[in-house]
Amino acid sequence: MPGRFADKVAIITGSSNGIGRETALLFAKEGAKVTVTGRNPDRLQASKQALLDAGILESHFLIVPADITTSSGQDELIKQTLEKFGKLNILVNNAGASIKDPQNRTGISQGIEVYEQTIKINVQSVIEMTQKTRPHLAKTKGDIVNVSSIVATKAGWSLLAYYPMAKAALDQYTRSAAIDLIAEGIRVNTVNPGIVRTGFHESEFGWSAEEAKKFYDDMGANRSSIPVGFAGRPEHIAKAVAFLADRDSSEYIIGQNIVVDGGTTMVLGIHANVLNSLNSS
Ligand code: NDP
Repeated sequence: MPGRFADKVAIITGSSNGIGRETALLFAKEGAKVTVTGRNPDRLQASKQALLDAGILESHFLIVPADITTSSGQDELIKQTLEKFGKLNILVNNAGASIKDPQNRTGISQGIEVYEQTIKINVQSVIEMTQKTRPHLAKTKGDIVNVSSIVATKAGWSLLAYYPMAKAALDQYTRSAAIDLIAEGIRVNTVNPGIVRTGFHESEFGWSAEEAKKFYDDMGANRSSIPVGFAGRPEHIAKAVAFLADRDSSEYIIGQNIVVDGGTTMVLGIHANVLNSLNSS
């Protein structure tokens, strides 16, 4: 299929759902050969069906079930991609999660095992995938895009302590990696999403689909939370990832963050109070 990613091969982690699935679809529609991955077989099947429904040939995508936090899962992902497509041009480190505390502890009381798992999926897996794909990306002068979050920015987060820490660490890792790797022709950048309608908050809080929908609807209806007036959709993030992965569009952008959040980080709690007091007067 012709397009800006024609002749490119991309691994998109966490593409069995949400932002990753949409990114895989967008890349494939624009000509890339894509490796789709995640752990859940039903979700992987849904991503496969979405690609087929979009008219993508089976020869243009690969589905690899893998836990990205394991060394064997990472190795399998890279090995199968190289076997099927022969090279690697783009790595999107999108898999991520806010791990729910099994005892429902919040804030800085969350268990240390929650901390360890949170760091492993959101930071360590990115470090390992970057190290393992480095020689392959150096050969193609490739591009890495990491998916972080607006929770990495300066505001504190009382409900969950470790997920924002992990994403802040990811952002700083991106900067270091960007300096090291551009010397080999590899670019590294980050997208920081705000609130996006995916499976993320269902996993994070153990919500049902209806509870998650209510959350996104309520957040979107409150312009002191999301000034644009609606919760984001996965394609909003996928388009920013594609921009940073496409060298023609973003060659001179190195080690940067693009915030895609409908304006959430533009407003402060103080704004909500001003709005509330105006409404009640
Ligand atoms: P989803 O829960 O919809 O998707 C998460 C993806 O990550 C799934 O494909 C899941 O696959 C995969 N994943 C999680 N853990 C593992 C693991 N151990 N091994 C392999 N794959 C794994 O969430 P989003 O699409 O929203 O999340 C994508 C990224 O966006 C994450 O990094 C998240 O932190 C970030 N983000 C999301 C926001 C939002 O509001 N939605 C806001 C800010 C950032 P599977 O379950 O099949 O293993």
